[in-house]
Amino acid sequence: SARPRTALNECVKVVVRCRPLSQKEKNEGYDEVKKARPEQKWYERLSSKNPVDNKKFEGPLQVVKVWPERGAVQVYNPKGQDKLFTYDAAYDCTADTQTIYDEMVRPLVASVLDGFNGCVFAYGQTGTGKTHTMEGTADHEGIIPRAFRHIWAHIENGASPDVTHLVSCSYVELYLEDVRDLLSKECKKLTIRGQELNGFYIPEMTSVVCKSAAEMVRVMRAGNKNRAAGRTDMNEHSSRSHAVFLVTVETAHRPTNRIRVGKLNLVDLAGSERQAKTNASAERLREASRINQALSSLGNVISALAENSPHVPYRDSKLTRILQDSLGGNSKTIMIANIGPASYNYDETITTLRYAHRAKAI
Ligand code: ADP
Ligand code: MG
Repeated sequence: SARPRTALNECVKVVVRCRPLSQKEKNEGYDEVKKARPEQKWYERLSSKNPVDNKKFEGPLQVVKVWPERGAVQVYNPKGQDKLFTYDAAYDCTADTQTIYDEMVRPLVASVLDGFNGCVFAYGQTGTGKTHTMEGTADHEGIIPRAFRHIWAHIENGASPDVTHLVSCSYVELYLEDVRDLLSKECKKLTIRGQELNGFYIPEMTSVVCKSAAEMVRVMRAGNKNRAAGRTDMNEHSSRSHAVFLVTVETAHRPTNRIRVGKLNLVDLAGSERQAKTNASAERLREASRINQALSSLGNVISALAENSPHVPYRDSKLTRILQDSLGGNSKTIMIANIGPASYNYDETITTLRYAHRAKAI
């Protein structure tokens, strides 16, 4: 585009994470490579000055090549015009969540502890590792429980009779036009109030005061259980709805009783895959278009923030309304775009890389 380039907003970070090939994919014979070009690994062309003779290539070919050292992801193009997307960071399948936390998320949570707001999103098609990254599993602690431990380590290390902390949690789900309170009985439907100028808020949202990281994990699990209750296919549901975990940290200092408040939103987004158009019911198509609208409105907000644009379109979706106060201003934002390495994901992978790149063209 012809838009003049302004300095990019350092408060917005966009990173890509590529998960390893799963055992299931291996069992089913999927691979990270397509049959093509033997003697030169296609991505080595990047460093080679010689023009490429495509006819020479017939051997295995990697569809997606992550370059952690340059924060870039390279995608194969059948015409030999591979595309290189550059981000604030790119993590390959060897990177663990600990590294991503330490390098990207830790500074954001530290600023929440200083009284600023922050937001971490996991974006990507279903099955690429959004929940693995945010929540984690029994063996791989995700960003959310790591943030809990980080917050409590800070509180305990800085313990002083002159400082008191109040940590509270809320957990909501967005599905179509509904905001549901995952910490209330039967996931009560909530209403968003307010307007763009003075901020949006959800008056009836449950807020649970917690005294430890373990307690926060219990709250998260209770919310997840509530979210799954009565659902025959939780995976399908979670791929169509957004989960927003909100942590509020209030710090009071004596004798002035000055209070600092930092809010941290941790978001596991709906799957970004394009829903199959064939055989989809009218309801499914409507659902798909709502999901796309919410994700594209989030992309518009992040890209407006990244470019320091004077108009940020928060009003365009419920998702961006609920998150408004932790996006923009002094808030820090991290978008983690998750991709899979298998060749059958090619199209969705490119879509995700483009989305993430559009959110912050570096
Ligand atoms: P999503 O939430 O995007 O649908 P999941 O987080 O459920 O995807 O991940 C799909 C599967 O891949 C899970 O079995 C998960 O444990 C595994 N997985 C995802 N990312 C990684 C990773 N970085 N390392 C190992 N396994 C992963
Ligand atoms: Mg998930």
